[in-house]
Amino acid sequence: MFIYQCADCKIQIELTRAVMKVVDGSVITKDSECPECGQYTREVEKKFTGFPSLIRTEPTLRKK
Ligand SMILES: [Zn+2]
Repeated sequence: MFIYQCADCKIQIELTRAVMKVVDGSVITKDSECPECGQYTREVEKKFTGFPSLIRTEPTLRKK
């Protein structure tokens, strides 16, 4: 799930998938236009909760 928010209207829209395309040299997401003003919204920074235990503190380098 991708959440996009209009910078002007503060309206958030949800997209189940993000299809990127380039318009006027800017990378935008297809179907991410604001329903109010019609400008392209920007993706809201994802909040990572319950991070999978991929980050480990022990050294990963093997000793030769
Ligand atoms: Zn808007």
